[in-house]
Amino acid sequence: MCFDATLVGAAEGQSDPIAADARLAGDSRQTRFVLDLDKTIQFRAFALADPYRVVVDMPQVSFQLAAGTGTAGRGLIKAFRYGLVMPGGSRIVFDLTGPARIANSYVLDAANGQPPRLVLELEEVDRTTFVQSLAAESRPELKPAIADAADIAVAAEAAAPPKPAAPPDLRPVVVIDPGHGGIDNGTQSSGESEKNLVLGFGLALRDRIEKSGKYRVVMTRNDDTFIPLADRVRIARNQSAALFVSIHADALPRREGDAQGATIYTLSDRASDAEAERLAEAENKADAIGGVNLTEEPTEVADILIDLAQRETRTFSNRFARLLMGEMKSTVRMHKHPLKSAGFKVLKAPDVPSVLIELGYVSNKGDLEHLVSENWRSRTVGSIAQAIDAFFAKRLATAGSAN
Ligand SMILES: [Zn+2]
Repeated sequence: MCFDATLVGAAEGQSDPIAADARLAGDSRQTRFVLDLDKTIQFRAFALADPYRVVVDMPQVSFQLAAGTGTAGRGLIKAFRYGLVMPGGSRIVFDLTGPARIANSYVLDAANGQPPRLVLELEEVDRTTFVQSLAAESRPELKPAIADAADIAVAAEAAAPPKPAAPPDLRPVVVIDPGHGGIDNGTQSSGESEKNLVLGFGLALRDRIEKSGKYRVVMTRNDDTFIPLADRVRIARNQSAALFVSIHADALPRREGDAQGATIYTLSDRASDAEAERLAEAENKADAIGGVNLTEEPTEVADILIDLAQRETRTFSNRFARLLMGEMKSTVRMHKHPLKSAGFKVLKAPDVPSVLIELGYVSNKGDLEHLVSENWRSRTVGSIAQAIDAFFAKRLATAGSAN
């Protein structure tokens, strides 16, 4: 459990605390962060390594800060961002310029005409001290909302009287994974953020393929919640998914020119080109952005077994990618190299065929117009649904002929 029950419960049944202003003071040896609130809150602050970050977890807060707050840093703080990490829980993640320790952190009551404030004081330390302070800290691990919800569901099930068993649902499971969410906005352009565009698209795709009744559809998120990459993969595995479709939108920095069109990515150890490599790196940063402790990521066990499973999975992933390409190119503007591969963490479920679709570039005017167009979305969703049908028609035919 990430948040103490008291911590989350404090926000229930009343309006969320409002954060109205945030400011930084100090220098590269000592830096102070102050957040103005309209009521006092409980919080927890901790540091993370590689990259150096400080995370502040708190109950759900309504951030009403000026646009651009957090993009410019000061002293030990390079930048910071804030937002929801789960229903009832907000978070601020600070990117640090180097190792620092939390010298002090507290919430002040309103006094002397000042509102309640959350104060965080950072102090420069060397790496050895930083790493030692991490080891000494025994902080409860962040668990995603989905895992918690699952635990609760299991507990509720155990307590409930036995029900007559429902017939098992044998339909293939399709997992739709809208990228980013909550504190992680993804790429942004002209006021549109990737996390919202891909959520809208993912929900439309779900509705379309659910309508056929042929598949059971599971969403990795269906609201503005942050989900760590490993949990998205875990959802695919736990659901024994037959297909995993991750939905994203790309952006190209202006200095790198203009790119347009949709691209379909599969998993590979080595990126198919420099752009694919840049993109995988950017998408894999989601956990660092969301404040997940990357040093505690489980190391891959039994790599060889995973490798073997992966080989067959990759064949199916590539087959689905080609079907997608075939369907999408007649309705959607595609990138000039529309099929690529790279080391995307989110595509790593060893036994689930997985693709990642970059719907287009929010940095391109024409693409952005498409991305926000209801009509374009409907046509694109239609072509992906067709590819899913074709993929399963072929799989079922293959399975049938093997018997
Ligand atoms: Zn993305």
